[in-house]
Amino acid sequence: MRLSRKQIHFRNLLTKLLCWSIKNDINFSIGEVYRPAHLRFKCPHCNREFIFDLQDVYRYMGYSKARHSKHQDKLAIDIFILDKEGNWLKEKIHYEKLGEYWKKLDPYNRWGGDFELVDPYHFEYNG
Ligand SMILES: [Zn+2]
Repeated sequence: MRLSRKQIHFRNLLTKLLCWSIKNDINFSIGEVYRPAHLRFKCPHCNREFIFDLQDVYRYMGYSKARHSKHQDKLAIDIFILDKEGNWLKEKIHYEKLGEYWKKLDPYNRWGGDFELVDPYHFEYNG
């Protein structure tokens, strides 16, 4: 399947997740979707230009172990569940219902709560 077809499929799956979360009174804010590659940065001090992939920075900082992230393909989203007062719920247990529902939507859906480096906020399509 072409990448654009996968992105449309991911959008459809994500729409189902959003509607399901509203019906189940789970509030969240949306975090990172797209993680760009080949970012250009010009250092204001030395005037040198650097080109880098954000994924490499995340790996270097220990946020990810993957060389390639589905965020780079626009096939992943990070979601932050909020309580009634709008506080960010950070524990994995708060994300398990959402993660289980996500995995039921498509056999290629993966939830970051199952990853070796646990990332309960991460939902991706890996088809
Ligand atoms: Zn993520």
